[in-house]
Amino acid sequence: MSDTNTFVATPEAKGKAKKFRTFAIIAWVVAMAAQAFAILKLISDDKLVLLIVAIVGILVTAIIGSTFWKKSNKLDPTSEKNPTRFFLQNQLGAIMGVMCLLPMVIMIFTSNTISGKTKAIAGSAAAVAMTAAGVSGVEFDAASIEKYTAEIKKQNKEAESFGINSGLVFWSKAGNKYHAFDDCQYIKGKSLSKGSIKESWEQKGISELCKVCKKKAEKAASVPKTSDVKELMEAEN
Ligand SMILES: [Zn+2]
Repeated sequence: MSDTNTFVATPEAKGKAKKFRTFAIIAWVVAMAAQAFAILKLISDDKLVLLIVAIVGILVTAIIGSTFWKKSNKLDPTSEKNPTRFFLQNQLGAIMGVMCLLPMVIMIFTSNTISGKTKAIAGSAAAVAMTAAGVSGVEFDAASIEKYTAEIKKQNKEAESFGINSGLVFWSKAGNKYHAFDDCQYIKGKSLSKGSIKESWEQKGISELCKVCKKKAEKAASVPKTSDVKELMEAEN
């Protein structure tokens, strides 16, 4: 498995992904603790407002968690070779989103100490929040080593078709673009990294060619070189 074409996240990208995963887990732990507290202390008629506030807080925290989780997977994706792991790693945000609110939904609807009205209001708020947390945690465009490898190959080909050297492009730390020209307006004056298109992916996770550089390269590629024109004229005569 030492195919030089296979995507391998850089140690820096892996480190950043690990940090994001830690943030995600902290957010979920906080959301779970808040849920436990709310279940124990806030399911009552006279604490309805506080309970709703807690539900909203849990929802926001769960979404923060899944946002970090998704970012980490873009930087350091897993392989599709193990389908169970691939599914779990990419959809953990959705699973955790539901888990942060499902016990609450059950406890509200099965409570026999609150009125029907409280049950209806708090129960529907918790159910809506649970659905929102679940849906926002779903990864609809799951990254994988295989997908990245194929995408890099495609982008190399495309860049080369415009005459861009796929082994020498430029990128700055921010954003997810790489540039064919180091004097591009978007990276002027910034500290730049240079390397192959593949390396920009491995450092940044997902990456793409800057639109301005693409246009410039396309334009240059569509204008025939003077030598070509000369040849063409000579051939016509
Ligand atoms: Zn550019």
